[in-house]
Amino acid sequence: MPKIEVFAEDVKINQRTMPGKDGKPPRAIYEQDAYIYCEGKFPTLMKLSLEEGQPPYAAGLYTFHGSSYIVNNFGNPELKKIRQSAQSIGGRTLMLNEMRAIQYRGGIAFVTRADEPTHQCKECYKPWFESDLSIVLGEKFIKCPNCSSRVRKLTDKAPLIRY
Ligand SMILES: [Zn+2]
Repeated sequence: MPKIEVFAEDVKINQRTMPGKDGKPPRAIYEQDAYIYCEGKFPTLMKLSLEEGQPPYAAGLYTFHGSSYIVNNFGNPELKKIRQSAQSIGGRTLMLNEMRAIQYRGGIAFVTRADEPTHQCKECYKPWFESDLSIVLGEKFIKCPNCSSRVRKLTDKAPLIRY
């Protein structure tokens, strides 16, 4: 599974302006450098997209998260695409344009789906989607696929714990 590393010197936001297309005004892009380990010994520079006002990701090693979107949405075909784009644009891949980062306490989940997670683990804080979770008859609670702890349903009053 690919890993993404953020180095201490890259804990900063790079802002650039994208010219507007089709008469639309230009818009600001917020990015952060990171390195992705796909295959081979050396990581490839990539750009993490940030929302306006979002703090940069902390230094550290991040991994892709969530079994279902890695298998279904971020399996081999997607990984091939990363390598191709990395080659075609000189190692600078924008693969996270296809993915969305969800910050949660303890890490970042990269997802390819646009909707919001519905559950969160009470121990490791990983967010989950309904389709990631298997509800086993006879079990008292829904288990986290990552750490087997209890998973709670997210509500307006008890939303995702992000920080
Ligand atoms: Zn967990």
